Amino acid sequence: MSVTQQQVLDSLARIKSPRGVALTNANVLSPISASDGKVFFSINVDAAEARTWEPIRAEAEAAVRSLAGVTTVMVALTAERKPGSAPPPPPTPSRGTPGVQPVHAHKPPQGGQSPMARQSEIPGVAAVIAVASGKGGVGKSTTALNLALGLRDLGLKVGLLDADIYGPSVPRLTGLRDKPELDGERKMIPLRRFGLAIMSIGFLVEEETAMIWRGPMVMSAVTQMLRDVAWGKLDVLVVDMPPGTGDAQLTLAQNVPLKGAVIVSTPQDLSLIDARRGLAMFRKVNVPVLGIVENMSYFQCPHCGTKSDIFGHGGARHEAEKLGVPFLGEIPLHMAIRATSDAGNPVVDSEPDGPHAAIYRAIAGQVRDQLKGVIAAA
Ligand code: ADP
Repeated sequence: MSVTQQQVLDSLARIKSPRGVALTNANVLSPISASDGKVFFSINVDAAEARTWEPIRAEAEAAVRSLAGVTTVMVALTAERKPGSAPPPPPTPSRGTPGVQPVHAHKPPQGGQSPMARQSEIPGVAAVIAVASGKGGVGKSTTALNLALGLRDLGLKVGLLDADIYGPSVPRLTGLRDKPELDGERKMIPLRRFGLAIMSIGFLVEEETAMIWRGPMVMSAVTQMLRDVAWGKLDVLVVDMPPGTGDAQLTLAQNVPLKGAVIVSTPQDLSLIDARRGLAMFRKVNVPVLGIVENMSYFQCPHCGTKSDIFGHGGARHEAEKLGVPFLGEIPLHMAIRATSDAGNPVVDSEPDGPHAAIYRAIAGQVRDQLKGVIAAA
């Protein structure tokens, strides 16, 4: 039988908080999500108190984990900065205490500060890169997965982290539905498919739960997926970012140790404006933009192969030139890409000798070339 919300609350009631009262009476708990043995909640405290609360977070996680019927637990410590209060302590440099990441969702980082100074690397992972888009529905996740597969085809060891907390699509795109197991150190073991190490928030919580998360919870959950997962040795970890350029995305871009970002846009003007915002966001936090990909660039008829520029193709290339960032390539709007994606058989894997796989591999080649130094150094 799987655990109930009440059982979780009963176990938390036995934990004393630094405020001298039971954790359940300290006014810090988010709603508890408990379904199918998967439990997720957060402890929301002021950033200045984050360090004091980490042992409580760990105690709460251990208490819930020991309940019968619990298979996965994620307890996030989300630290919000009160207006006018002192800045939060920087994230702990060692990864000995997973799960604490003081975040300040309402005070986005300002330019000039080196993100690398604030971020600790993921052991064994040479380069973490983001695939981002200014808005949803432009094919960001499809591009992220096929780019990861293109990098795999170039002989690299690749992982994929689906951090699109507002609509995790990696379970659909990969056909994976299993729950990750824990290793001897209680780290989650990423699922494996197509030769990739894959992790998605969609493996852990129901989609509706993720939808209601606020910025700090997003950051905390993504931090846990980065640090509490046994990624093993990887050349590149591709992070499928949540779409948009709001505070949650900005905080993520700053706190994930990114070596670069790929921006996906469609040729429509509106989407390009959003892509420009994405570009500005990464520049603000000093993450190099590896380039822009134009997705759904032109329509290619599945029957006769004729190309039609239904969205006025070429906008992203022009934009990239104007903004001085590499243009990585054009991916057509094609039935085969949609059908393979939605059936859990991404085109680079299912049609490796086809024209679409060749396009994704060419994009991957450019990304690999830009990361060569980092990968070689690792
Ligand atoms: P996002 O991550 O930006 O929300 P998705 O990758 O989930 O977007 O793609 C949205 C939809 O568009 C999916 O049904 C996907 O199969 C389809 N799609 C993405 N790229 C293409 C393409 N180049 N050609 C045809 N369909 C595509």
